[in-house]
Amino acid sequence: MMQLEDLLSRFREYSQQDTTLIEYAWNYAQEAHKGQRRKSGDEYFTHCAAVAEILVSFKMDIPTICAGILHDVIEDTDTPNEDFRKEFGDEIYGIVSGVTKIDSINFSSRDIAQIENWRKMVLAMAEDIRVIIVKLADRLHNMRTLQFQTPEKQQKKAQETLSLYAPLAQRLGIFAIKSELEDLSFKYLKPKEYYDLLDKVQQRYARREQLLDEFKNALNRHLEDTKIPHRILSRTKNLYSIYRKMQMQNKPFEEIQDTLAARIITDSILNCYALLGLVHSLFKPVVGTFTDYIAVPKMNGYQSLHTTVMASSGEMVEIQIRTEQMHHTNEYGIAAHWRYKLGDKAPDEHLNEKLNWLREWIEKQQDLKNDEFLDGFKGDLEMQQVFVFTPKGKVKPLVMGSTPLDFAYSIHTEVGNTCTGARINGKMARLDTPLKSGDKCEILTRKNSEPKKDWLKIVKTATARSSIRRWLREHGKAED
Ligand code: MN
Repeated sequence: MMQLEDLLSRFREYSQQDTTLIEYAWNYAQEAHKGQRRKSGDEYFTHCAAVAEILVSFKMDIPTICAGILHDVIEDTDTPNEDFRKEFGDEIYGIVSGVTKIDSINFSSRDIAQIENWRKMVLAMAEDIRVIIVKLADRLHNMRTLQFQTPEKQQKKAQETLSLYAPLAQRLGIFAIKSELEDLSFKYLKPKEYYDLLDKVQQRYARREQLLDEFKNALNRHLEDTKIPHRILSRTKNLYSIYRKMQMQNKPFEEIQDTLAARIITDSILNCYALLGLVHSLFKPVVGTFTDYIAVPKMNGYQSLHTTVMASSGEMVEIQIRTEQMHHTNEYGIAAHWRYKLGDKAPDEHLNEKLNWLREWIEKQQDLKNDEFLDGFKGDLEMQQVFVFTPKGKVKPLVMGSTPLDFAYSIHTEVGNTCTGARINGKMARLDTPLKSGDKCEILTRKNSEPKKDWLKIVKTATARSSIRRWLREHGKAED
């Protein structure tokens, strides 16, 4: 298990901020989870420490790291909410209770058509995007330790991860964990296909790895004299994306094209261009393959130099050259922005910037392939939707401010017309109560009950309003 000292020293690599709160959260959570064990037999707290470790690798801020350490305290220990809030303040409490809220949703719905709604709902419920980042770190560690769960639980978690959490990570630009979530799910959902492909990929790459190593060594020899700081990485293989490519192109693995690829990471923009010059002088570049995404970043903010050269072996090698900071931003997407955009400012100063910034960030994502989702999401933010559950767990998206009456009409006109009352989260509620995302709403009806004129003042949705008007007209009770 990661020790507190290791965590703090990794945090200090990117921040000068005082770590007292992290230390306090660490001891608090360790105490709160005392005696609890994971399925693996490990102490429960090892999970909290692992989640914090993932968040530090994202270079997250102090409230997020604390929330990671504490993320299961409200749900899994008998710590009262109010005590927790007093102890750690509104910001950390807000993130932890957001994570707890998402945990309480039962994603067992097999209805794939609902998945897009689930995703939107999770985003809408997390008023603070750091909730999703902690949740993703939590899920990543649970997926890494999934072998200790029952086969049923493995299937359920893997399915949920593949259809909900991996796409969320992708859409937030956190590619560093999207691929790992996909591959872990793939392993449990289609073990035969997974191991088959793993075997083939390893065979193909044993030879390619060797070619790539030769290329890296040649490059390293030349770079040694230049004193330009650098490290060379080879791209990791995302098995699930190869598998999906095979499915989509309907081709066996042997026919899937894939070039050798290397990444050179350095310290400054100037050195990126210096390295590019060196690479081109050492290996013949392939005409037409050079793209400068540093001078002209992609719409989503992605920055890197791209070029393809011919290695001495005759193989083509795709090379990406970038600074450490660009690399971090490219891999960690929205999570990276927490540090680079907000810096080390006191947390309170930027509390209000969050949603605006998210909106801005999403607007920059236009060139991603998932335009449709993002457009939808942007629209949601503008329309300010809420997501409400039926008693059977279906999700109904409604305009912000919608009431149980709007909800009733969204189910069926007849349900709306005969509505007599509502229960929200199990409690009786007035018909003009505004619904919140995550509420479970149950509509009470009586056979001969009729719509009231006053309802027109309560409802927010066009559907409900026009249904009520139509009923009033048809029954000769026109509006005054
Ligand atoms: Mn957890």
